[in-house]
Amino acid sequence: MSTKVRVRFAPSPTGPLHIGGVRTALYNYLFAKNKGGKMILRIEDTDQTRFVEGAEEYLIDALKWCGIKLDESVVDGGKYGPYRQSERKESYFPFAQKLVKKGYAYYAFDTAEELSEMRERLKNAGVPSPQYNAITRNSMQNSLSLSETEVASRMNSGRPYVIRIKIPRNEEIKLKDKIRGWVVVNTNNMDDKVIFKSDGMPTYHLANVVDDYSMKITHVIRGEEWLPSAPLHVLLYRYLGWEDKMPEFAHLPLILKPEGHGKLSKRDGDRLGFPVFPTQWKNPQTGEISSGYRECGYLKEAFINMLAFLGWNPGTSQELFTLEELIKSFSLERVGKSGAKFDFDKTRWFNQQYLRKKTNSSLAKELNILLKNKGIDAKIDYIEAVCMQLKERATFIHEMWEEGQYYFITPTAYDEKTIRKKWSKETPRHLNNLKEKLVSLNNFSSENIENVFKAYLEESKIGMGKLLPQFRLSLTGLAMGPSLFEIASLIGKKETLKRIEIAIIKIQQ
Ligand code: GLU
Repeated sequence: MSTKVRVRFAPSPTGPLHIGGVRTALYNYLFAKNKGGKMILRIEDTDQTRFVEGAEEYLIDALKWCGIKLDESVVDGGKYGPYRQSERKESYFPFAQKLVKKGYAYYAFDTAEELSEMRERLKNAGVPSPQYNAITRNSMQNSLSLSETEVASRMNSGRPYVIRIKIPRNEEIKLKDKIRGWVVVNTNNMDDKVIFKSDGMPTYHLANVVDDYSMKITHVIRGEEWLPSAPLHVLLYRYLGWEDKMPEFAHLPLILKPEGHGKLSKRDGDRLGFPVFPTQWKNPQTGEISSGYRECGYLKEAFINMLAFLGWNPGTSQELFTLEELIKSFSLERVGKSGAKFDFDKTRWFNQQYLRKKTNSSLAKELNILLKNKGIDAKIDYIEAVCMQLKERATFIHEMWEEGQYYFITPTAYDEKTIRKKWSKETPRHLNNLKEKLVSLNNFSSENIENVFKAYLEESKIGMGKLLPQFRLSLTGLAMGPSLFEIASLIGKKETLKRIEIAIIKIQQ
């Protein structure tokens, strides 16, 4: 029997979740659900100095918005909890000690000054990136260089110490990454990382490995920035005697700047005007607000679809995938090695596609929320008809309001350019004549309005250009928009006639 797939998303609550993090969560989720497995959320909060208030709540809310359902988490609990590392604090030390006992780790007493002194000394001797390693550890203050009695006395006197892993000399560490293939690193390029800190907390590496093992994680799917840590994790599995239980690794490619070089950052979003966070974030210290896809009016279906395509492709020309379809089609084999360029236009395109797919009634419900916030009270049937007219032209719900305010309020301003180019001495007379004809129209359907309009053009021997833009300007204040006759029919006869009158007065002034 094959083991049940169990994956985890393991963010550190150090701020808002970048879209790269959301993509990691998404790929974990798609992979797990494709395999009928479980998705776990583990909060990695061992570095208390980087803790940011509200970050955990933020990421839980963001994942929920995206539709990424968690089988086990800090919210829902589960068999392998607690799911917050700070609450598992006691479980790590015995493993660190076990490593020391077996000779795979050691106590180190070096102060910050001593460490920087060592680096200085080595730099002066021409070592470009000095490290605490097999060569330097002998001249430092640790349980390998000091006598047993000295170590015992230091420990007994309560002197702060850390536990470092003892990286062997000149060994090849091999790991098979599901995306990158074989990765081979020589231990001479690794350093004796701290695995347990003087504050009584494990570092990321130890906690991560212990928890992945304890929580029976089968696949570690995470960002490429963790690839350099993977050989150390392999060693920890080996030294703890868990090598046969080691999860499979998959390191995801970076999400790149739109220009294609370097990791996409918040600064790129600010510079080019798009969000890099799923939902809005308010910095608790500075109060600074960073925009989010949700608040900018993106539909979660579009956001998820766009993210799925940043690194993965289905191998067909299909671009629109619901979450269910993504689950069915997803595989790590189709995740590329090279970075995925972020394409903001494509993101907007996805939103437009999903907006079009929505029924008028569901669009109307959302538009109504926005209208209510603006103090506008309109009938839901009417809003639905407006959505039908605007749907093809909008990318966002809020654009329906921005571009179609005239469906709900009489224009107060008129497009200057149209006035300059199209509004002549003759215009008020023609508009008044048209108005007289419309007054007697009983059925104010768009066809009837169009017929009356065209009949008037013929009778007065003028072309479209002499009256259509002016009529549109009167009803909407704008130069362009959906079919004018349909707009007129929808806002109704009384409002149409009133708007013509108001426009004539206002534009003459
Ligand atoms: N806590 C790490 C992070 O913040 C997790 C990395 C991993 O998945 O191993 O991304």
